[in-house]
Amino acid sequence: MSHVVTLNAGSSSLKFSLFTLHKDDPVAICTGAVDRIGSPEATIAAKTSDGRVLGGDGVGPIADHVAAMNRVLDLLTQWFPKAEIVAVGHRIVHGGPDHDRPIQLTPDSLRALEDLAPFAPLHQPYNLQGVRAAIERFPQAVQVACFDTAFHRHHPWVNDTFALPTEYYDMGVRRYGFHGLSYEYIADHLAKTAPLLHGGRVIVAHLGNGASMCGLIHGRSVGSSMGFTALDGLPMGTRCGQLDPGVVLYLMQQKGMTADEITELLYCKSGLLGLSGLSNDMRTLEQADTGAARRAISYFNFRARRELGALAAVLGGLDAVVFTGGIGENSALVRERVCVNMGWLGIELDHDANTEHARIISTPLSRVQVMVIPTNEELVIARAAARFVYPHMYEALLDKAAARTG
Ligand code: ADP
Repeated sequence: MSHVVTLNAGSSSLKFSLFTLHKDDPVAICTGAVDRIGSPEATIAAKTSDGRVLGGDGVGPIADHVAAMNRVLDLLTQWFPKAEIVAVGHRIVHGGPDHDRPIQLTPDSLRALEDLAPFAPLHQPYNLQGVRAAIERFPQAVQVACFDTAFHRHHPWVNDTFALPTEYYDMGVRRYGFHGLSYEYIADHLAKTAPLLHGGRVIVAHLGNGASMCGLIHGRSVGSSMGFTALDGLPMGTRCGQLDPGVVLYLMQQKGMTADEITELLYCKSGLLGLSGLSNDMRTLEQADTGAARRAISYFNFRARRELGALAAVLGGLDAVVFTGGIGENSALVRERVCVNMGWLGIELDHDANTEHARIISTPLSRVQVMVIPTNEELVIARAAARFVYPHMYEALLDKAAARTG
């Protein structure tokens, strides 16, 4: 039977899945992740859809993403020797101004994507290393790139630009927006399960180690908290989020910091980690009883509330809020703090439903429905990859999804 591998490389992690191509939709049969790549204590964990745990032998040093990728591809062929891999779908963080949908990767398109690496230095190089490793391992398979930026490519111009001279816009200095695969999944899920809300004004809060918010009208992105790079907007695990550009000038001109040092500061030492001095991990901070940990969580919630209000204004009102991502799906505390005293916007949280992580966590009388929907970026990638291999089988399905997302 035909299978698709999906690969999703972060700065120190690699998520992977194996999907069987069924007629109506790809079905995941195994999902897993390599974590702490580059450390002596890297881990590989995977489980099958029926709950079998795989990958106990995967603990040990994994030097870099190429090593991680090769280990994953070895393990997948070892665990599923009969799987015929017909396509590999890659999450590619940056597609630049032109790509508004997935593409089949060719040597030329791969080179063009390499040119975008400076836009996403913590992700793009690793994504493309994954592509090269997969081409070497499965030369017959179709390689498909799914871009995190693509979902936002039709933003209105005011949400796509900075107030710089227009030649900078023309050279690609724009507000791209990220986490598009997650937003696409949520938009499609809403279309299937809550079509009335899908047709309205929705804010999706993708709160994970990377965090952003997106305003949707009729399933299409009209505004996002992220900008030119995945640094902007909400504070994240180790990224600063929105920052006055004057801070960067000050650090360079007055403090003599180099570009590399500032990159390290803004991408790797800021956000929850920088504020708490303890951890980038929300769960750890919630359990830690220190003033700095509490302040880090307060700042995270404050910025999320501020972005919620701003996006509601962009949308001209609000019908639903969706929480997703590791924090959005699991932290009742963050959801509560983000939504508290938001009655003026029509949000009334149901405390018990929120504590129980119910799917709908607003009260029945709340004008705005608040939901928790686990995201599934891998399924979005698998669907796109399947479409390139079996267009006749998946075209209709994806056309329906496209119609639903606007
Ligand atoms: P990534 O952006 O790397 O995909 P995830 O979406 O997996 O990240 O989210 C990771 C974040 O989710 C971490 O900060 C983690 O602490 C947080 N998280 C996961 N489970 C919980 C929980 N039960 N309570 C609070 N935070 C949680």
